[in-house]
Amino acid sequence: MDFDSLIENKSGLGTAGIVVINKNQDIVSCMARIARFYKHESCGQCTPCREGSGWMWRILDRATKGETTLSDIDLLDDVTKQIEGHTICAFGEGSAWPVQGLLRHFRKEVDKKCSNDPLIKKKKDVPYLVDQHLLEKKNA
Ligand code: SF4
Repeated sequence: MDFDSLIENKSGLGTAGIVVINKNQDIVSCMARIARFYKHESCGQCTPCREGSGWMWRILDRATKGETTLSDIDLLDDVTKQIEGHTICAFGEGSAWPVQGLLRHFRKEVDKKCSNDPLIKKKKDVPYLVDQHLLEKKNA
């Protein structure tokens, strides 16, 4: 395990800190937990990191509960690209690259979480679904 061989396998050693995760664990849930850490630790100076880390955490948190659609996962991928290369320090990449790795290496597990209809059809009260109130009869 070294920098070059991991690059060949579309991965990376990063800071060389390693977390070993049992195969029986829900990898999407583990990634949601990591994304929550990055959201919490972002200093907030750069918009892509400040906002993007929150978006990644919220989407992954919903994925953990089986409340995402495939288009949510496309959005998640897009958010990582909006962060990558657009921040002052490497914390942005530090938060985006693990999510990109999840989508690259565990796509089957991620897709399994996306069997639901879009939330908008279910009329679920999700705080950042800003037009949700328009679906409620009393607001029509
Ligand atoms: S990329 Fe670095 S400087 Fe920018 S908000 Fe994130 S932690 Fe702060």
